[in-house]
Amino acid sequence: MSLDTLPAPNAYDAEPIPAAALAEVERILSTGDLFRYTSDKSPVTLLEDEFAAMIGSKYALAVSSCSAALFLSLKALDLPRDARVMIPGFTFAAVPSSIVHADCVPVLCECGDNYRIDLDDFAAKLPKVQAVIISHMRGHTSDMDAIMALCDAAGVPVIEDAAHSLGTTWSGRNIGTIGRIGCFSFQSYKLLNAGEGGIMITDDPDLIARAVIMSGAYEHNWKKHTVLHEALARWQNKLPLYNLRLNTLSAAIIRPQLDELPRRVRDGRRNHDHVAALLNASPWITVPEKLGPEVRAPDSIQFNLDDLTEAETETFVAGAAASGVKVQVFGQSADNARAFWNWQFLGDTPELPQTRAMLMRACDVRLPARLTLTECELIAQVLTDAAQSATADR
Ligand SMILES: *Cc1c(COP(=O)(O)O)cnc(C)c1O
Repeated sequence: MSLDTLPAPNAYDAEPIPAAALAEVERILSTGDLFRYTSDKSPVTLLEDEFAAMIGSKYALAVSSCSAALFLSLKALDLPRDARVMIPGFTFAAVPSSIVHADCVPVLCECGDNYRIDLDDFAAKLPKVQAVIISHMRGHTSDMDAIMALCDAAGVPVIEDAAHSLGTTWSGRNIGTIGRIGCFSFQSYKLLNAGEGGIMITDDPDLIARAVIMSGAYEHNWKKHTVLHEALARWQNKLPLYNLRLNTLSAAIIRPQLDELPRRVRDGRRNHDHVAALLNASPWITVPEKLGPEVRAPDSIQFNLDDLTEAETETFVAGAAASGVKVQVFGQSADNARAFWNWQFLGDTPELPQTRAMLMRACDVRLPARLTLTECELIAQVLTDAAQSATADR
């Protein structure tokens, strides 16, 4: 069968949860023990210990979402009200939202057409901020050597938003372990799927102790965390309780997926790099190069349309959709949560001309690790054909 006659693969369905989760879920349901602090060794605590060991950090705290982890990170840093927190202009709306939630003020930084932070704009804005959140959007890693050098010199703490970046490395180090705090998501579109959930990691005992208590370890529940009892005792009764804990069932669903991670990372990268090479053969499409120290863990692909008009861009998206491949141009919709001008809750959003220009031609296509190379070739073919037909009338 030729590629042309195959239907486009389903890029939306999740992978099944490993069967090992079922027995544990049944055990938990039979005991009704759903709250992390009713047992001494909850699956949530086990997940924290396993995740910290896997990623190479001292401490981990599992919470209800990555957004909750980002919020708790800002609270753990004890930033004053109205502190300015820099984020990339290209990120998910939940990131500026976590800053607003923490009574701080987001400062948006320009990004380049390779989706990464513009270091000139970053350096220019750094003297006026008290903290930085680096979103590794879709796993694209900004220059962490330059960012850490600038932030260390300025004494500004870095939180890594690695929600969608698990498995990526930078100079051999796991993303999320480079800044003071790293935050990850277990929402269904990320590499580990619990439906909802998140986790924060750090090597700083005082930061994690503050976050543990604020996540809802009321009274002496913090004693059920395996470490840190000295730091935790120091913060007893001193902090508000935001109750952002992770449900035990979610932890039971995530734990057996940790073993799947290397395979998901390997196959996702294989699929991405295969499709990237095919797309780059089109005169209308560019997949930006990754940075040198970065080894990526993608489950989707982003690429730029080169010199297509707005009408041609629309024709391209419609053509790909008609062949079964959904393309999202980040800036070409009135409600995309990754287009900064849609964050109207901020009041006046700043003008970021470079980031806006990138978002107007940057495309997003899902490319899950479970796809075969043949399925990936079909997706690449649909995209290059759609770009060719969209520009045929020139
Ligand atoms: C998904 C995502 C988030 C939010 O994660 P939740 O767990 O849904 O709160 C934040 N930042 C980035 C970059 C994301 O991709």
